[in-house]
Amino acid sequence: MATTAALVVPSPGAKFERSTVERRELRDRDVLIDIKYAGICHSDIHQAKEEWGRGTFPLVPGHEIAGVVAAVGPGVTKYAVGDRVGVGCFVDSCGECEACEAGEEQYCLKGAVPTYNGKGYDGETTYGGYSQSVVVTEHFVVRIPEALPFDAAAPLLCAGITVYSPLRHWQAGPGTKVAVVGMGGLGHMAVKIAHALGAEVTVLSQTLSKETDGLRLGADHYYATGDTATFKTLRRSFDLIINTVSANLPLDAYLGLLRLDGTMVNLGAPPESSSFSVFSLLGGRRSLAGSSVAGIRETQEMLDFCAEHGIASEIELIGADEVDEAYERVLRSDVRYRFVIDIATLTQE
Ligand SMILES: [Zn+2]
Ligand SMILES: [Zn+2]
Repeated sequence: MATTAALVVPSPGAKFERSTVERRELRDRDVLIDIKYAGICHSDIHQAKEEWGRGTFPLVPGHEIAGVVAAVGPGVTKYAVGDRVGVGCFVDSCGECEACEAGEEQYCLKGAVPTYNGKGYDGETTYGGYSQSVVVTEHFVVRIPEALPFDAAAPLLCAGITVYSPLRHWQAGPGTKVAVVGMGGLGHMAVKIAHALGAEVTVLSQTLSKETDGLRLGADHYYATGDTATFKTLRRSFDLIINTVSANLPLDAYLGLLRLDGTMVNLGAPPESSSFSVFSLLGGRRSLAGSSVAGIRETQEMLDFCAEHGIASEIELIGADEVDEAYERVLRSDVRYRFVIDIATLTQE
């Protein structure tokens, strides 16, 4: 085992402390990554506060990891020391079930191993990216192209892939009209990627406060959902609605915005159950769907796509001592659009 510096939440809802965690010795196919940057995802906050069921504390969040390969096990073939790499939301899966065989490891029937707050198949607790280094099997490591800056690439590993995968699955592109609900960490990435795919993009946000940003990042239209006229104006307008909001929305009103055969995909997860009238689906053969990150192959495809189109996250870079404050600001939606921790500050006074 090797000791590495980490930002640790000692108990649910507690403030972060500088501490250490143990990383396993390199196995045959393992890669040791020197972490440079880690993005802050809203799900980090839920788990640090133990809002998603029982957590394992002390906890080290972080599943938007960008870094450099520092060492490799003897059987590693994909990576060499010095390579720019990333790790997203999971670090292992069974490799044998139908989901794994299809390259959709995130839906592994045995359960993909979460990057943190989980247990590996060996029974060891996993610790995430708010730390100096991590050991991951090479299959679950992706390459960060040279064209992408490390800090702004980190959020692509969760926020970016979470929106890229449904945009591809439901074939957003030239001639399709896509609505993005919510202009936060996920929403701003959905705008950029849908625009780069060639779709006509409309942002649906509570207010018009981020309209200038939305249009700058690639939206063609921007509407406030606080204005009820919006739902009349846009009735039957969209092929695809990407819902990034984690709160319960009036689903019937949103489904009414879909054209014939349109789909509304939910990416955020409100803790309470949702309800809607089936009539909202019948009139227009509409679908209500969900999606969760993506497999490793598609995650690599997304990074290559972003590099090719000059896309990364809009970020606010922070130091290791600013994470508690950043969490407060995320909860107030006061971030444009993703906080990223500069891991070099973790070992500085
Ligand atoms: Zn995330
Ligand atoms: Zn599997």
